[in-house]
Amino acid sequence: MTILTFAQAKQLLTTVSKTVPDQLSCDDCFELMAEFADAEIHGNELTAALKAVRIHFSQCPCCAYEYTTLLEALQEPEAILK
Ligand SMILES: [Zn+2]
Repeated sequence: MTILTFAQAKQLLTTVSKTVPDQLSCDDCFELMAEFADAEIHGNELTAALKAVRIHFSQCPCCAYEYTTLLEALQEPEAILK
């Protein structure tokens, strides 16, 4: 009987978690980021392109971090007004 090593199990999980294809490059993602933030903030329905952005965030910590920073920057003025 074959037992997976920890490394093999981890590799398998990584492969499974990436079954949703990431269609965007980081540049594409960056271009759509403001639009995505706008849609999220206003609760607009996401277009196919914006859904791809969301998928990219789930697979790219770098862009996800950029987005968090952008959201904070966008929401700050409102926080001051309240
Ligand atoms: Zn990225």
